[in-house]
Amino acid sequence: MDKILVVEDEPDIREILEYNLAREGFRVITCADGAKGVDTARREAPALILLDLMLPGLDGVEACRLLKQDPITSDIPIIMVTAKSEESDVVLGLGVGADDYIAKPFSPKELVARVRAVLRRGPARQESLKGERLVFPGLTVDLGRHQVVVDGEEPEFTATELRLLHFLASHPGRVFSRAHLVSRVIGENAVVIERNIDVHIRAIRKKLGEQAGRVSTVRRVGYRFLEELPAAS
Ligand code: CA
Repeated sequence: MDKILVVEDEPDIREILEYNLAREGFRVITCADGAKGVDTARREAPALILLDLMLPGLDGVEACRLLKQDPITSDIPIIMVTAKSEESDVVLGLGVGADDYIAKPFSPKELVARVRAVLRRGPARQESLKGERLVFPGLTVDLGRHQVVVDGEEPEFTATELRLLHFLASHPGRVFSRAHLVSRVIGENAVVIERNIDVHIRAIRKKLGEQAGRVSTVRRVGYRFLEELPAAS
């Protein structure tokens, strides 16, 4: 029975979360503020954290940053819970390492589906454990050999395109904001505007041909790599 930590200051929403997760068989522990949430996560080692964005004191973004920096808690997946109007903050949340987000109001069904999907992905994996060579059906991304193989072909990728594709593909399913991609792939000091990421993504998709669907746009947030190629529409 997976233990889930819910950090939420609004009692109504906390109850809804608790009720729906408990009904699905999860063990639920709750906290009403960010600082307590971080302490509880360290102590209880939950399988997953549902973290509200707007919290008194330590807010969700700061709490997420602390949890992801601490080796004791860095592997615990975090789903940020946000209000619709806070979607620009979601970008920040993902920039500090949140694994997914869910916007209020949400249906209980959606909530449980998100929780299960993130749990299925397993513990948030550390960067250093990632291989240089990533293999998916029809697609191999090899950073060390500077090589991408798409359905047997080897289209030429620029260094930036290769690093960008490799970074996304080494975190399948995880959404990254443009800002995060710029800082992680191109470098903190690079003179690159976030929209340039879109240009690189377009170039990558073109070179991926039939595999292009793996690089998926998440509206108003950024991009994610799909481990399984979506069925052609
Ligand atoms: Ca709140």
